Amino acid sequence: MLKINQQHLKLSVLLGILGFIVNLYPIPLFGNVQLVLGNLFFVIIAILLGPWFALLCAAISSMGLIITWASPHVFIFFCLEALWLGFARRRDIYALYADIGYWLLFGMPLFYLYATIFSELPQSHLSFITLKQGINGFIYTALGSLAVTVFSGFWHLKGKVKDKKRRTFNAQITYSFTLVLTISLLSSALIFNHQVILKQQASLKQNLHDSAIHLGQATEAFLDTHKRAIDNASHWLSLSQTDIQGWQAKLTKLHHSYSGFITMLVTDDQAKIIAATPIEQLGFELVKNKSFSVKDRHYFQQAFHKEITYVSPAFWGRGFGADPIVAISAPIYQKGVSEKPIGIIEGSLNLNGFIDIEQRNLVYEYQSMILIDENERIIYASKELALPVLSTFKSVESGQKYKTSLQLINLYDLKNPNPEFVYTNYQLNNGWELYVVKPFSPLLQLLETQYLTTFAILLLSLVITVIVTRVISARLTEPLTIIANKFADKGQRNAADFHIDEESPQEFLTLYQSIKKSKQELVSYQLELEEKVAIRTFELEKANIKLQSLAEKDDLTGLYNRRCAESKFSTTYNLCLRSNEPMIVAILDIDNFKGINDTFGHLAGDECLRMIAKCMKRFFKRDSDVIARYGGEEFLIILPMTNTDMVEEHLNEFRTKVKELVIHPPQGGEDIMMTVSIGAIMAQASYSKNLEEWFKQADLNLYQAKNQGRDKVIVTKPLLPNSANFIS
Ligand code: GH3
Ligand code: MG
Ligand code: MG
Repeated sequence: MLKINQQHLKLSVLLGILGFIVNLYPIPLFGNVQLVLGNLFFVIIAILLGPWFALLCAAISSMGLIITWASPHVFIFFCLEALWLGFARRRDIYALYADIGYWLLFGMPLFYLYATIFSELPQSHLSFITLKQGINGFIYTALGSLAVTVFSGFWHLKGKVKDKKRRTFNAQITYSFTLVLTISLLSSALIFNHQVILKQQASLKQNLHDSAIHLGQATEAFLDTHKRAIDNASHWLSLSQTDIQGWQAKLTKLHHSYSGFITMLVTDDQAKIIAATPIEQLGFELVKNKSFSVKDRHYFQQAFHKEITYVSPAFWGRGFGADPIVAISAPIYQKGVSEKPIGIIEGSLNLNGFIDIEQRNLVYEYQSMILIDENERIIYASKELALPVLSTFKSVESGQKYKTSLQLINLYDLKNPNPEFVYTNYQLNNGWELYVVKPFSPLLQLLETQYLTTFAILLLSLVITVIVTRVISARLTEPLTIIANKFADKGQRNAADFHIDEESPQEFLTLYQSIKKSKQELVSYQLELEEKVAIRTFELEKANIKLQSLAEKDDLTGLYNRRCAESKFSTTYNLCLRSNEPMIVAILDIDNFKGINDTFGHLAGDECLRMIAKCMKRFFKRDSDVIARYGGEEFLIILPMTNTDMVEEHLNEFRTKVKELVIHPPQGGEDIMMTVSIGAIMAQASYSKNLEEWFKQADLNLYQAKNQGRDKVIVTKPLLPNSANFIS
C-alpha cells in the first residue's frame, strides 16, 4: 500500500486552493483574451513533488477557470500539462522547456480542435486564442520555475524530487536567463500592447464620435436647408397671385434651385395636384385635369390641416415616383382671401442625397453610417452595409464578454456573442438617429497581428539570448574546465604549455597565473619535502639499527643477550646440520663471583664482567662463533665446526687466559684475579634442535666442574666417535 506523504499532500492542496482563487480573476488583456496566472502553483508542485501531486494541485486550481470561463473541458489541458511537467521533472528536464514542448506538441493542437468544436468564436480568431493559450502557459511556467529558484530556501521538503544528474553551469545559467527573459519580455510586451490598445480604442472611439457629430450635423443642416426651402417657397407662393399655369412655371423654377428634391408638387385645397415637377414623371394630363389626389398622404394632412411645415418619416413614394422618400410640406395661403390654406407645396427628398453627406466623411476608413427615422426605419445606410432602405432597423448590443471601452453592436446575426461592429450614435433634433459603425473583426485582427508581431520579436530575442548566454557561459566554463584538467594532469603535458585564449575574461588570466604560481610553489615544496623525508628515513634507519642492536646486545658487556643467543643458536644449528658438522655449546661461570662483589664492590664486579667479555671477544674471534652473556656472571659460547680434538684445549686455553687477567678496579685498590669454570657439550648438530637439550648437558658439566673445585673445563661429547668426557 502506497503511503502518501502528508506534508506533500497538504502543500499540494494549499497551493491548489491559491491557484483556484487566482484563477477566479484572470487578467483581461483585450477583447475576450485573458491572462491566466493561477496555474503557476501547479508548476511549483510539479517541480517540487512530481506528477501526481501536480495533478491534484492542477485539478483544484483549474476549477477556478471552469467557473470563470464556464467551460468544463479546459481543465483537461491543465491537468495534462501538470502531469507532463511532473514527469519531465523526474527526467531532469527543465519546466519551461518541457512546457514549450507540451504546448507545441499537444496543448495547442488539442486546444485548437477543442475550440473549433465547442466554442462560438469566429474561426479567424481561433488560431490567435490558441497561440495565446500556449504563450500564457510559458508565462506561468516561467513564473512558477522562478518562484522555486528564487525562494529555494522556502521549500524545505523531505523527499522532494531531486536532480538525478548534476547539471552543468552552462545549462543552469542558460535556463535562468531564459526564465527571466520569458517573464520580463512577455509581461512587458503584454503591458506595452495593453497600453497601445487602450490608446487605439480611445482614438477609435473619438473618431467615431467625431464622425457621428459631423454626419449628424450635416444631416440636420441638409434637412434644415430643404425644410427652409419649402418654407420659403410656401411664403413666396402665398404672396404671388397667380393662376394655375403660373404655379407650374414657378415650381419648375424652384426645383432647379433645389436638386435635393427628387420631385416637387403643389396641391389645391382638395389635395389635387395642380403643379408637379418633373411633370413628365406624373403626366401632363393628370395635372391638367386635377385628377391626382394626395388627400391620404400625411404630408398633405399635416401641412394643410395643422398648417405646419412638416417633415415626414421615410416611406415609399406612390404614383408620383416610386422612390423611398422623405416628404417636406408646407401650407400655401392666398393673401387677403382666406385665413385657411388654399393648398400645400411638397418636396420629396431624394434619400440617396445622403450619399453626398457621407462622401464628406471619407477621412475615416471603413466607417459606415445608418440614418433611421423616428419609426426605426432605415432612411439611409451605407452601401457596403447592404441594409435595405425603409426596412426596420434591427440591432442588438453585443460583446458583453469583451473587455473594451468601445460600444459593440450586431446588425445581422443578433444572437452571435461576438460583436460585428463598433458604433456610436447621434440623436438628430428631429427625432431621427444616426449610427456610425465600423466592423469589429478587422480591429481584432489588427490587435492580433500586433500581438503576434511582438511575440515573434520576443521569440527571436529569446533565441538570440539563449545563444549569447551559451557562448558567454562557455567562455566562462571552458577555460575553467581546461585549467582544472591541465593542472590536475600529472602526465607528461605540463600546465605551462597551456595558454588562456584572448577571448577569455581578465579574471581567468589572473586565476590561471595564480594557479600556475601556486603549482610551481607546490612542486618546489614537494621536492623540499621529499628531500626532508629522505633525510628522516635515513636517520630512522640508523636509529632502527641502533635499536636493534640495543635489543640484541647486553648493555654492560656489549655481548649478545640471552634472547639473541637463543636465536643465533638456530642459525648455527641449521648451518652445522646442513654440512653435518659438530658444534659446541659451553657455559662459562665466574667462580666465587659473589665474593668478588662482596670484597671489591659491585662496580668492580661489573668491571670484571666487562673484562671477561672483552677477553672472550678477542679469543673467540671467528665470525661464526657466538658469545653471549646468558645472565648474571654466566656466559654462553656456541662454536660451530670446531676441531673435535682441540676443543678442550681451546677452552682451557681461554680459562688460563682469564686466570692470567689482572683487573684494576675503577675506584682503585687491590687488583683482582679470578677464575672461571666451563661446562661444555660437543656433538653433531643432529644431537638436538633445542638449545635446552644442549644447555642441560653443558650445565651438568658446569655443575661438576664447580663441584670438582672450580677453575675447570668439563666437556662431554655424546654421539661422537671415540667420545669421552674430558675434564681438565
Ligand atoms: P660459584 O663459584 O659457585 O659460582 O659461586 P658464586 O659466588 O660465583 O655464585 P653465586 O651464584 O652464589 O653468585 C653469583 C653472584 O654474581 C651473585 C651476584 O651478586 C653476582 N652478579 C650477578 N650479576 C652481576 C652483575 O651484573 N654485576 C655484578 N657486580 N655482580 C653480579
Ligand atoms: Mg653463577
Ligand atoms: Mg659463579
